[in-house]
Amino acid sequence: MNKWFLSAELFSLIIIFILMLNFYERRWKGFPQRKLYQLCLLTSAGSILLNILCVYMIHLAWDLPLWVNLLCNSAYFLLIVTVSTIIAYYLMRLLYEHIYQQRQQRIFTGILLFLYLLFFALILYNLRSGVIFYFDEDRIYRRGPLINLGYGIMGVQLLMLIYVNVRNRKSISPAMRRVMRILPPIILLLTAYQLVYPDVLFNGGIIVAANIILLVNFQSRRVEQDTLTSSGNRKSFHQELSLRLGGRQHFQVIVIAIHQFASINHRYGHEKGDHLLYEIAMWLETLHPSGTSFRVGNVEFTLLVPYTGMVSSGKLLETVYQRFSKPWDMGDSSVILDTSFAELICTDQDWNATDIMEFLNFSLSLAKERKDRIVRFDESVYRTMEQRNQIIHQMQQSVRENLFQVWYQPIYHCASGKFLMAEALVRMQGADGTLVSPAIFIPLAEQHGLIAEISSIVLQNVSRLLAATAPEQLNVVSVNLSMQQFMSPSLIAELQALVEQYHFAPERMKLELTERVLSEDLPRMHRIMDELQQIGFGFSLDDFGTGYSNLSAVLDCSFSSIKMDKSLIQEYSDNNRFTFLVNAMMDLFHQMGCQVVAEGVETEAQAQALTSRGADWIQGFYYARPMPETEFLQFLREHNEGTMN
Ligand code: C2E
Ligand code: CA
Ligand code: CA
Repeated sequence: MNKWFLSAELFSLIIIFILMLNFYERRWKGFPQRKLYQLCLLTSAGSILLNILCVYMIHLAWDLPLWVNLLCNSAYFLLIVTVSTIIAYYLMRLLYEHIYQQRQQRIFTGILLFLYLLFFALILYNLRSGVIFYFDEDRIYRRGPLINLGYGIMGVQLLMLIYVNVRNRKSISPAMRRVMRILPPIILLLTAYQLVYPDVLFNGGIIVAANIILLVNFQSRRVEQDTLTSSGNRKSFHQELSLRLGGRQHFQVIVIAIHQFASINHRYGHEKGDHLLYEIAMWLETLHPSGTSFRVGNVEFTLLVPYTGMVSSGKLLETVYQRFSKPWDMGDSSVILDTSFAELICTDQDWNATDIMEFLNFSLSLAKERKDRIVRFDESVYRTMEQRNQIIHQMQQSVRENLFQVWYQPIYHCASGKFLMAEALVRMQGADGTLVSPAIFIPLAEQHGLIAEISSIVLQNVSRLLAATAPEQLNVVSVNLSMQQFMSPSLIAELQALVEQYHFAPERMKLELTERVLSEDLPRMHRIMDELQQIGFGFSLDDFGTGYSNLSAVLDCSFSSIKMDKSLIQEYSDNNRFTFLVNAMMDLFHQMGCQVVAEGVETEAQAQALTSRGADWIQGFYYARPMPETEFLQFLREHNEGTMN
């Protein structure tokens, strides 16, 4: 009579039930291939139950028909190999999760299936031959010569998994690498134990061990998942990139950034806003059978798909682009999203995941500035990025080492023929000694948080200059303020402190704002202007006529002077439409009590025409270019003769 110890199996069964309950209760969305894992648990429980049943039935062998026992035991043997095959298949899927190349995976899946069918045939053959097990004349269960064949199959499966793991190591997720470090030795150990002590039934224990190791290792995945859309997050996107790059796979990435989503939340409520984001993530998932979508920022998605050629990648990008030009359903209404797109194709370049994230970010920032809102990362985008990075680096260095200079461009006063005003223009020396245009580095300084420092340098210099010069020599210096500078909460205090420190009349500092500033938050800008005007500062509207014109906003603000942009002025002397326009504008501004500064005057003809037509001030290369402070002071001495003290 066989004597078996069932306690280990019972114990395993309890643990499997705990795992199942836990798994269902938490509904771990981030758990990879959840359905397959559920199947692992279910078949595991089934095989252990069947084992226990078999043991009882063998004890009752005399009371049951022989075929019942035969069938039950055959089913048990088959189920054990089924479980191990499902677990092996599950592990295989996870090992190949970050690999686009499917051929190898198909071959190994075929081998798994073949082994399984072979075992199935053998179980049938066993009914006649008893090579695996049989019941003797006394209805006693006997082991056949091939009783351990199931372990043999498990061994082959394990070897296959180890092979796949070693061969594709660079594209296998860390969690899976951990599993492959722990699982094989434990399975081998437990199996060896079972072979040495065949009377202690322990197959359930082996299965439970496998299930627990998987569960523990994939628990951490939830951290890498976006809770709202259940797609990957920024961290898992980075990891996915690393794994694809590690395996030298070719892929295409598309980034979609949604702008002004706050207004959608505001209009439709957060719940509907969240739902829309979920919808978008779901839609992205459907685009490609091997595609993965990630929510890498609050309102920024990426889609990663295998790259198979220019045509298909172009088509995919077009599909995404077209979809976002159409409305999204919001229940009772629909909404068209304001979006920018960037695309990158990685074939054999020597990039890492961080590089790619940076390239995408940069492409996206370019896309935002473009009319079609789309940028495909290529050589020229890369060069632009390098140049910008170099400028940013230079700016940081210039801030640290105090290398910024403030230059001054004299402005001609038509009535007195003297240069009583000047515009302060900041300069940065490039690495090679050349000067980088503020038109390039000021926007970058704003993006990279350096504008406040540059602002202070300019304001400090101008204040010092105003304190050191008499008003008859230099009455007013105008300073450019970008939108960010103007809206900065510390601006008023900073200006006030400068007036107190340097004791100059605030009327002598004029703040230049562009029409772009007017296009923003008008009430707030009125408040700031009012407060500064009360202290005494004057305002000048810069670049009038460059396209952001909002005439009513211009009229609404109290500027003491208006600067006509050089694009208008440079067409002036030809007596064309521009001449009429500028003349009419000059009259209008004069009637409003504003002075007119003509910018960018380069020829004598322009200067004369503008003076005779009533321009109050002229700024331009015709009279003087911007120059360093010492040269500027020299210039004033030479040109404002007679008023010097
Ligand atoms: P802007 O305020 O329109 O400054 C006038 C620009 O026109 C200056 O360029 C000046 O050199 C140039 N200019 C003057 N006369 C002529 C002329 O006759 N012909 C031509 N073609 N150009 C002339 P710059 O110094 O390169 O400055 C470019 C822009 O950078 C400025 O345009 C201003 O928007 C910005 N900027 C300069 N300094 C500062 C600053 O300290 N802060 C801020 N926020 N922006 C600044
Ligand atoms: Ca200006
Ligand atoms: Ca200007």
